[in-house]
Amino acid sequence: MDKGLLFVISGPSGTGKGTICKELVKTMDIVMSVSETTRAPRDGEIQGKNYFFVTKEAFQTKIQEDGFIEYAEVYGNYYGTPKEFILNKIESGQDVVLEIDFQGALQVKEKFPNGIFIFILPPSMKELRQRIVKRGTESEKSFKERFNNALKEISYIDKYDYCVINDEVECAATKVKTIIEAEHYKVTEEIYSQIYKYKEELLCSTPR
Ligand code: 5GP
Repeated sequence: MDKGLLFVISGPSGTGKGTICKELVKTMDIVMSVSETTRAPRDGEIQGKNYFFVTKEAFQTKIQEDGFIEYAEVYGNYYGTPKEFILNKIESGQDVVLEIDFQGALQVKEKFPNGIFIFILPPSMKELRQRIVKRGTESEKSFKERFNNALKEISYIDKYDYCVINDEVECAATKVKTIIEAEHYKVTEEIYSQIYKYKEELLCSTPR
């Protein structure tokens, strides 16, 4: 059985990557990893659905137990991708998508060089600013932090395989879906070795 593919989606806060990921999960055969975080839940966020909200101590213990594929500190809180879920899904042939920041993406790239890394960009910096403001969940200090972090995040775009501009969310989601579909038709080493094996078998067998 073929293994599942691992997709990583990053982009600055306010680019709509969360909405895109939801659309992928709704319309494709792909599951999303639920991260653990030490940040407090926002209004409407559900334990185990948006995140696993954990204490700093529990997070530290999981780091020591090597329970994360990657983890990073973002805006003073820790976020991490639980290892077991991802490995089980991929091994069973299931595609998985991670919505994580660039620090985490770089760590995943080290461990999964065959992962597919997609960066979501806002149509313009002005629009990004407006989107962060419109979100309205952040204090003024946090807004500045997120905007500066957005600039930093964008500076890592060359580490990604694809870049999608989210000017219209449905359209952007369709583009990401196209990337995911196309990745399943890539010529891989596995396919190459299967063809090679087949060729060897044919050469060894006597023609009738
Ligand atoms: P928020 O607090 O707004 O939900 O997320 C803040 C940032 O943390 C976003 O850029 C999001 O992609 C990132 N993030 C969420 N989960 C993870 C994770 O498991 N690992 C890493 N490295 N970043 C994450």
